[in-house]
Amino acid sequence: MTTNEIETRRIDMYLNLVDENGDRRIECRECGARICDGSEEWLENVPIRKREISGRLEEFGIWVKEREADERIELHERYCPNCAIQLGAQVTVAGEDRPLQVDPDFL
Ligand SMILES: [Zn+2]
Repeated sequence: MTTNEIETRRIDMYLNLVDENGDRRIECRECGARICDGSEEWLENVPIRKREISGRLEEFGIWVKEREADERIELHERYCPNCAIQLGAQVTVAGEDRPLQVDPDFL
């Protein structure tokens, strides 16, 4: 008889790292959809919406002056491809898809 061992560890507000008999994957905590393999970068495997930040924040009633000089600042919002819950958001300079991010050492 084979036992099915599943270990689930929360790695972000809406993401779990699931290890099922050595098969590691990242899942959405809201709907359980598989996002990617555990060895992959989830940020690169979900839909992303990039918007100039002042325009996006205005939709929430927050006024921020649009940057006129230098590069524009963007808000990158990433969503679950199955249930569309927002998995994360990052502020970055336009053209930089991977803003500086320091993850805790348990990831
Ligand atoms: Zn989901």
